[in-house]
Amino acid sequence: MKYDYLVVGAGLYGSVFAHEAATRGKRVLVVDKRPNIAGNVYTEDIEGIHVHKYGAHIFHTSDKRIWDFVNSIVEFNRYTNSPVANYKGKLYNLPFNMNTFYQMWGVCTPQEAQEKLEQQRAEALVKLNGREPANLEEQAQLLIGKDIYEALIKGYTEKQWGRPCTELPAFIIRRLPVRMIFDNNYFNDRYQGIPVGGYNKLIESLFEGADVQLECDFFDTVNSINCMNWRGIAKKLVYTGPIDQFYDYKFGHLQYRTVVFETCIENTVNYQGNAVVNYTEREIPYTRVIEHKHFEMFGAEIETCSKTVISNEYSIEWKPGMEPYYPVNDAQNNRLADKYREMAKAETDIIFGGRLADYKYYDMAPVIELAMRCEV
Ligand code: FAD
Ligand code: UDP
Repeated sequence: MKYDYLVVGAGLYGSVFAHEAATRGKRVLVVDKRPNIAGNVYTEDIEGIHVHKYGAHIFHTSDKRIWDFVNSIVEFNRYTNSPVANYKGKLYNLPFNMNTFYQMWGVCTPQEAQEKLEQQRAEALVKLNGREPANLEEQAQLLIGKDIYEALIKGYTEKQWGRPCTELPAFIIRRLPVRMIFDNNYFNDRYQGIPVGGYNKLIESLFEGADVQLECDFFDTVNSINCMNWRGIAKKLVYTGPIDQFYDYKFGHLQYRTVVFETCIENTVNYQGNAVVNYTEREIPYTRVIEHKHFEMFGAEIETCSKTVISNEYSIEWKPGMEPYYPVNDAQNNRLADKYREMAKAETDIIFGGRLADYKYYDMAPVIELAMRCEV
């Protein structure tokens, strides 16, 4: 047998696993059905700009071990995510902080902002009448008040999830920070940035020491490497594709949300002055506009590239054949995923890992941690 591991999926999980295994002298073959490595962190070069083809990716973590690991592979830049929200032509800083409160209410000190927030929270408490918030709308109004909920949350969230806020779980909104300081950093994590030279460089470096075959679908038996014959190729399988597909949808299909990207080149050096602008009103069909150059170009460098590339993002319900992006971790889907996970647990020569195989909405750092923790 030629390989110790066959890894299905050349994304972040597959690449970190391959790196760890190759470092320990193991022979690794990686296959991916796409024509490129890097899974969802892949970037395409357009006009000298790294365009995040499968959605904007900002690396962030508080785990020094993970940060040191990625920095041992490539250097990271100083990008700090500070999205701006556009509501009916007026701009607000995110996440909710003193800048947002000033823009919304004209309050200048934390005490003034606190008073305004308490007043609005009191109204939300009266409506709850002693109950816990039962949905996202109730939770958001309790967290941040109705003014900000109506301008910055309601429309955006309903576009993103395709459901009314009254039918969405409260936890979704709890991950957004609320700060009584002037701080537009979207994340609370200690470390943040984008790989210098782009994500592809990170993943290419991780694959040094492994063999990689692209445009090879594991379930397509026309390929020489596939689900029927893999045991003749490698001792163990590492599978990072959708878990329901692995078991041929035996218990039914899991659901996802997906995003459609409308990408175009604009003949200007600077289109919106920021990498991320969220459009929070319901009437504008896209959720946000990404201007890719701002992830990796700063200051005078922005002017050296005469064009810019932008992507409008539309969030839609996933159907078979589309890219599965966000697992819908509601009770029904989680129950179904548990059935598949039970089957996966019984396998002795197959490792399941990553966002699709675990059916969990992981950020990049947790995916790296899981792949590093895996015993090879
Ligand atoms: P993937 O990157 O999906 O890789 C799986 C690979 O398996 C794919 O390349 C796929 O083609 C391949 N594959 C699947 N089935 C088969 C098959 N049958 N045969 C062969 N190959 C197959 N995280 C952050 O930390 N910060 C962010 O800002 C951020 N933004 C995001 C934005 C979007 C729109 C999305 C969807 C995710 C975002 N994430 C972000 C999460 C991040 O993308 C994931 O944590 C990470 O990429 C998961 O890596 P993975 O290897 O598990 O999956
Ligand atoms: N959200 C919002 N307005 C915004 C940005 C986010 O209402 O301008 C809400 C939305 O419901 C989203 C949640 O906050 O699902 C979490 O935001 P985050 O950016 O963490 O979501 P992600 O796109 O990473 O899932």
